[in-house]
Amino acid sequence: MIELASAQEKVLRAVQQAAPVTVALNDAYGLVLAENIVSQEEVPHFANSAVDGFAVRAQDVVSVPATLRVVDEIAAGGVPHVAVGAGETSRIMTGAPMPSGADAVVMVEDSTEGKTPGEVVLSASVQVGQAVRPRGDDVRVDDVVFHVGDVLHSAAVGVLASINAPHVSVVPRLRVAVLSTGDELVDDGSPLALGQIRESNRTMLMGLVTQAGCTAVDYGIVRDNEQALEETLRRAASECDAIVTSGGVSMGAYDVVKALLGRIAHMTWMQIAIKPAKPFAFGMLDAPRGSEAQRQVPIFGLPGNPVSSLVSFELLARPALRKMMGHAALHRPSLLAVADADFLRKTDGKIHFQRVIAKSNSDGRIHVAPVSQQGSHQLAASALANAVAVLPNGDGVLQGGEVRILLLSDLVEGA
Ligand code: AMP
Ligand code: MG
Repeated sequence: MIELASAQEKVLRAVQQAAPVTVALNDAYGLVLAENIVSQEEVPHFANSAVDGFAVRAQDVVSVPATLRVVDEIAAGGVPHVAVGAGETSRIMTGAPMPSGADAVVMVEDSTEGKTPGEVVLSASVQVGQAVRPRGDDVRVDDVVFHVGDVLHSAAVGVLASINAPHVSVVPRLRVAVLSTGDELVDDGSPLALGQIRESNRTMLMGLVTQAGCTAVDYGIVRDNEQALEETLRRAASECDAIVTSGGVSMGAYDVVKALLGRIAHMTWMQIAIKPAKPFAFGMLDAPRGSEAQRQVPIFGLPGNPVSSLVSFELLARPALRKMMGHAALHRPSLLAVADADFLRKTDGKIHFQRVIAKSNSDGRIHVAPVSQQGSHQLAASALANAVAVLPNGDGVLQGGEVRILLLSDLVEGA
């Protein structure tokens, strides 16, 4: 058996960040920037009101209530028609340009209609600049708003839209082929004969691949037959940037993935000191594509047991896919949580990964309890987990103790 850390290192060393491409902003969400973004525009582009209210000269509302004459109405998208003079005000909406002469805005909540039509009574004084958003106070021309390596999260793509950056240079979204192997697998809804099971790993792995920010491409079920598998893998390698397979990597007589890849790819077959997900195969398959130089496509051969497949993907495939997509943070967030139950285990030289439900507690800490079934075939129970507890070799952790967890989901709910 090899240590998890060495297996992860071996895999990460073998894969490289993909070459940058230019994409439309709407396709950039979640990708990593390959260029610094220097703004050519100011945001906001003009001084405007932060509230619905009345644009005034602050000096006219030093003593309140103050009655002012309304000389204009300025909507968002509209323009001021006249300047604001002494004793005057313009009704103004949020985001509308400030009229000249005015230097502050009194919010509409601090106003009542005057006795004479066309007049307003303002009941609050304001400082110069109050409720005014100056030109350029979010972004200025030549500001470097984002740097190479930054992840384009939702707010970031929003900023790029705000400065008119319709295309950006990014590390591309990987196309990842997903296939499952096994003579027992059925995915057409037909009644199950004895020995058959419904295929589930491929569907799950396509979800995990998507969650990792890649595009999942379905290559279906491949039977335990080396020729069929070779044909599918070569096609997947020519069409995709990485391949994830499930099944066929352990010690069984029909473990064809292991057998075939040993022959056609630069392959390492590993027995990793973890539970679940001990067997794992990793390698690079040569894939000429069109006129391009020889490419090598990584193959992640995950075990067939559904929970093992999930854990193996999380620990070994996901970090590598993230490296290829230019991320600096490759692993799931690791933090200490309070054990709400005993996490007992036997000493066997392996790290155990128990699936847990993590919740933020009223004591301000994350608490975890194991899901009810921990068998590597019991996906239904593991599907309730949003984290895994990491139990190093030893006896485990008692209730109330601290246990390290890896968060698998952003959805940690409150108590
Ligand atoms: P294997 O790794 O191929 O020896 O498979 C180990 C176990 O996982 C067996 O019980 C398989 O039937 C099951 N298994 C393999 N592939 C899948 C799959 N795609 N979906 C659900 N279960 C699977
Ligand atoms: Mg199999």
